[in-house]
Amino acid sequence: MNEPKIVSVEYVEVDTYCKDCKGTGAFRHAWTPKGVGYVCQTCKGTGKFPARIEKFVGRKTRTDVLTVRMPAPHIEVKEGEEYPTPPDGPVITYEEFVQGHLPGEGF
Ligand SMILES: [Zn+2]
Repeated sequence: MNEPKIVSVEYVEVDTYCKDCKGTGAFRHAWTPKGVGYVCQTCKGTGKFPARIEKFVGRKTRTDVLTVRMPAPHIEVKEGEEYPTPPDGPVITYEEFVQGHLPGEGF
């Protein structure tokens, strides 16, 4: 399967809350004695975690899609039942999608 082509990559660096201690700088396990916290070794007690996030600079391009459809509404399937073939919805070409159109909008 082809990976989506990356238009350009731009990163933003931001400080986020440390996931290990939930930003508190101290953590506890279920077995930690009551009232005791340990200095989080992931953030060294700061509660802060530097993250590098890929900034959105434009939709990426797929090379493995020729047509685009709206997804079928969610269908409940009971155990043992076959998943029904979703009904065919409006379809547009990938080129039309790239130009900013959506299936069924009637452009
Ligand atoms: Zn931490």
